[in-house]
Amino acid sequence: MIRITDILDKLYEYFPDADVDIIDRAYIFSARVHAGQLRLSGEPYLSHPLEAANILAEMKLDPVSIAAGLLHDVVEDTHCTLDEIYNTFGQEVTHIVSGVTKISSLPFSSDEHRQAENTRKMILAMADDIRVILVKLADRLHNIQTLHYHKSPDKRRWIAQETLDIYAPIAARLGIYWIKRELEENAFYYAKPEEYKQIEGHLKQDEAEREKYVSTVRQMIEEKLKLTGIPCEVLGRYKHYYSIYYKMQMQDLDFEEVYDIIAFRIIVDSLAECYSALGTIHSQWKPIPKKFKDYIAVPKPNMYQSLHTTVIGPYGERMEIQIRTREMDHVANYGIAAHWSYKEGTTPNVNTDKTLGWIHNLVENQKSFRDPEEFLENVRIDLYPDEVFVFTPTGEVKSLPKGATPIDFAFLIHTEVGNECTGARVNGRLVPLAYQLKSGDIVEIITTKGSLPSRDWINFAKTVKAKSRIRQHTRKQEKERSLSLGREMCEKAFRRSKLNFSALVNTSRMEKVAEEFGFKTVEDLIASVGIGKVTPLQVVRRFDPDQKEKKEPSLIEKALSRQEVKKRKDKGDGVVVQGMEDILIRFAKCCHPVPGDSITGYITHGQGVTVHRSSCINAVKMDPERRIEVEWKTAGNDMFPASLTVSGYDQVGLLADISTAISRANANISEVNMEHRDNNVVLVHFTIIVNDIEHVEQVIAGLKKVPVISDVKRD
Ligand code: MN
Repeated sequence: MIRITDILDKLYEYFPDADVDIIDRAYIFSARVHAGQLRLSGEPYLSHPLEAANILAEMKLDPVSIAAGLLHDVVEDTHCTLDEIYNTFGQEVTHIVSGVTKISSLPFSSDEHRQAENTRKMILAMADDIRVILVKLADRLHNIQTLHYHKSPDKRRWIAQETLDIYAPIAARLGIYWIKRELEENAFYYAKPEEYKQIEGHLKQDEAEREKYVSTVRQMIEEKLKLTGIPCEVLGRYKHYYSIYYKMQMQDLDFEEVYDIIAFRIIVDSLAECYSALGTIHSQWKPIPKKFKDYIAVPKPNMYQSLHTTVIGPYGERMEIQIRTREMDHVANYGIAAHWSYKEGTTPNVNTDKTLGWIHNLVENQKSFRDPEEFLENVRIDLYPDEVFVFTPTGEVKSLPKGATPIDFAFLIHTEVGNECTGARVNGRLVPLAYQLKSGDIVEIITTKGSLPSRDWINFAKTVKAKSRIRQHTRKQEKERSLSLGREMCEKAFRRSKLNFSALVNTSRMEKVAEEFGFKTVEDLIASVGIGKVTPLQVVRRFDPDQKEKKEPSLIEKALSRQEVKKRKDKGDGVVVQGMEDILIRFAKCCHPVPGDSITGYITHGQGVTVHRSSCINAVKMDPERRIEVEWKTAGNDMFPASLTVSGYDQVGLLADISTAISRANANISEVNMEHRDNNVVLVHFTIIVNDIEHVEQVIAGLKKVPVISDVKRD
């Protein structure tokens, strides 16, 4: 079993001034709370956090990471709480331990490899400090190294497959290739034992011959480069088992067809020497076109830099050669971790391509920090700023845009689930449908058979799919509503003419009438009555040509009907109703809104939408369920009634003065009522016809100039 002093020695090598107090305390704490627990190997449990901490020291991480490694299992596996960790070790360690614990307890489904990419993204998205991932990788590496203690082959295969699908690719993405290799080699053995043994057998077969080949070629390269004056180190390395297997799978090759089982790596001192060495190699052996890759000029997003070339080697065989500096080699092994290794002279040259991804940004930021510790304090990452990753109740991972709500999730699962959604549970708790999902949330949608999407979902739906489905439904509902509205209006109008609409509606005569109006179906005709394009009276007249207006309409009704006629002619409705086209609009007679007034709509039964001024007492009292947003949309020369109350002294000529003032302001009076009060005061109520609110104000200003008038108010 590794000892804590071994880990500290390792740390002092790359960080001589390290303050190891936190590590000492974490070690004692972990030993205490894990006391008595055993690993499957029979060893004390403490061996596992110690090994994990050792791997973190191999990665050359800071003391906080190593302390977190020692404590990574205490919350999950002992009675210890995060609060205790916080009180003893502070915020940073707590944050990492909590992150690792969260990832470890994610409810992944057993077929996660099918959605490995989303799973990887979720893990990365949940770790807002990259050290969370590094501790998790160390944890997994030791677990996979000791996987043979697991008794169940199924369990072994499952953990191994998860390692190949999720954790090795994460290590690769972070550029920590030595961890990736270790994870893959160990996991491959348990995930695919047959295939592992086959490859092992092939490689063992002509091992001696291969060894001889490697040393011969190494010497050839070294001598050649020495002649050109390039000091170098040449390594011959075997492709590892899993890489060979992976390549065979991906390219459908037999073992014999995998030519790059041996690759050579040339390590030089400077960037310029990389290219000189490349020139030397290419002049010696013929390069294979298209096989050359310059990852120095264009590094991989995880900062990997190297020249790759494949040449026809001394025996006519294909030979892969990588050329890089010592610095690049270090980065290739340690990846992102290289950026906070404390060893002198290992600061990689990051002044490279601007096209690098997120790590590049991270590294860019690093430049503005004075020392590695300050950089670490700022390693709060958000790798997927536009996405969240959530679980279905069965453990499937789904990706949604940031800000998405249970509605989006419901429609993502299935259109029916979205349509019939009536509630949602997140992590077992009921949440409002407008709740914004977070990565790692487990989302469960509650549906009610026959339920329909609500129009206000559109305000918090985020995905295109959810939005278009909601709109589709809203339109359908509108159609249905205008149909029942139109039917109701027709029934009323027909009844007034002693006709039975219900009896007539299914006749061929009605079909003909619909046709005369230019509609394909009777339904279309009725719907257009509902939205106010056709009046019910127009329909009635087709059946009862003698139908006349029953009574002389009032001035206001005339003004209103003029308005309605104009509306239809100009296609300006005066008002548009949120989300609805062509619905019948009426202006409330209680408050007479005019353009410019703040207004609100009220959905009536069978009368379309009534528009009130927002301040109208009736509007304030109305059922909020039936309130609907409306806005002005006038055609310029529309006229609207507005009512005013003028108070003045009762004297001869008062009315004349008032009407002169009103007509000077180019407005017409449609109704007048007088009310006598005490003290010789008279109140005159007017309805005037105006264009908009400015027009009303003009009229009021004109009236205020009349000497006998004491006050003017809009009702
Ligand atoms: Mn662990």
